[in-house]
Amino acid sequence: MLLGSAASVPSYSQKSPQSLLILNAQIADGTGAPLYPGNVRTLGGRIVAIGKLAPEPGESTLDARGLVLAPGFIDIHNHSEQTLPKDLAAETQVSQGITTLIVGADGESPWPLASWFHQMQDHPAAVNVGSFAGHATIRQQAMGNDFKRAATPQEIRVMEERTRQEMNAGALGLSSGLEYEVGSYAATEEVVAIAKIAAVSGGVYMTHIRDEADKSFEALQEEIAIGERAHIPVEHSHIKLGTVNVQGKAAEYIQIIESARKRGVDFLADCYPYDAWHSNLKVVVPDKQYENPKSVSAALESYGGGSHITITEFSPNKTYAGHTIAELAKANSLSETDMYIRLIREGDAAHTEALIIGQSMIESDIKAFYQQPWVMVASDGGVNSEHPRGAGTFPRVLGLYVREKHWLTLPEAIRKMTSLPAQRLGWKDRGVIRIGAFADLVLFDPATVIDRSTFADPAALSTGIEKVFVNGVMVWDSGKPTGARPGTLIGSKGAILGLAGKTGAAELPHNALSGGVL
Ligand SMILES: [Zn+2]
Repeated sequence: MLLGSAASVPSYSQKSPQSLLILNAQIADGTGAPLYPGNVRTLGGRIVAIGKLAPEPGESTLDARGLVLAPGFIDIHNHSEQTLPKDLAAETQVSQGITTLIVGADGESPWPLASWFHQMQDHPAAVNVGSFAGHATIRQQAMGNDFKRAATPQEIRVMEERTRQEMNAGALGLSSGLEYEVGSYAATEEVVAIAKIAAVSGGVYMTHIRDEADKSFEALQEEIAIGERAHIPVEHSHIKLGTVNVQGKAAEYIQIIESARKRGVDFLADCYPYDAWHSNLKVVVPDKQYENPKSVSAALESYGGGSHITITEFSPNKTYAGHTIAELAKANSLSETDMYIRLIREGDAAHTEALIIGQSMIESDIKAFYQQPWVMVASDGGVNSEHPRGAGTFPRVLGLYVREKHWLTLPEAIRKMTSLPAQRLGWKDRGVIRIGAFADLVLFDPATVIDRSTFADPAALSTGIEKVFVNGVMVWDSGKPTGARPGTLIGSKGAILGLAGKTGAAELPHNALSGGVL
């Protein structure tokens, strides 16, 4: 396997009929600087000129009057590892302006990553892709199904070796999902040990922390400690305060992060623009006493009751889908607690569990997080998501939080979608409009851009994203995918992963369908 250097940069003076000149755009360059009018020329997959440019004879031109030209959006937390290979056009992704999506979040990644990369190289997608190495995936490689305990020193050595292997294959860092089944049994020590391995290779520690509910503050402290002890940059996944007891405490939460940042912890976070999360039924009960009425009742209370939890998918009884636990309890003449326990038992009997949407975040917290300069936009969605964030995240921020609510300026929102995630990943030539950068570009109408996906119709496409280019090739044109598949594989420091030889198909994480998407 070869880790190639970045693609060759064409000579900037070279002009040919293959070049494209985008005229009369308002440029949001990704740095947060004010918009400015200008023309942009692309050639050979790169931006080669910016300014007052006139078309060359025979050159293709595109009049972008009234539109904003921004760098393509980089979605650092995307769950398309299984679904993108089956939908390479990725319509729900490119239609929101995503040009690069990063998989392997929440502790789960394809195993081994090299095989998944080969698969994506053999069948490229419309978008660029990169991946983290998942802690839970690596943990199971070391412990098998005997993971409900702390790892032995010998097992941690094995995890370190596997982490090194995945970093060498091109992983962007280590992801964890310490609130989920496999990751939750890991001691802090274990995570520090393997995060150190990722750090040596220039990786990032991206984490779904141990608790996003009543113990959110303790979980944040653990995350910061891991970052400090492993000397690794931290990406806090989908920052939220997800239960009644911690709602409204964003200022306090932010304060802890600010002081860590002042001490030198390289801490960034991402946030999706919704007040509801999507996960599995068991995540609701933090002490794992799923059939203990006391534990269950306290857990449901912490989310504001069973009316805040909606079943989206339950294979043993499909009629439950679309109903809240409160509704199902009433229909079955049970208490909410007993209904929850019944769902657990029916699920266990069928070796599955319900997928749920929990509505438990409040707008003032979401707003406070989005207004921090160290918080970026990410979807936590992906191709075929059951949550509307899978198709709506980026247009929703631009339409709702920028245009309607004025929480953010347009240049700042664009920065949070482009150069900030690129900075987190250590990429210098994406996420920005400047000469020499890759021509991952989005043209959108700031007056109309908005999401249309809902919980009832999560794949409804957004409006207002007019054209999307990946490596200089148009993949989205006025409401339709073009069919082009110019996506590349991107690794640490933005290197294009060049792969030699072949291995078998990647195994997908065994619990990928039920875990890892809160
Ligand atoms: Zn998560």
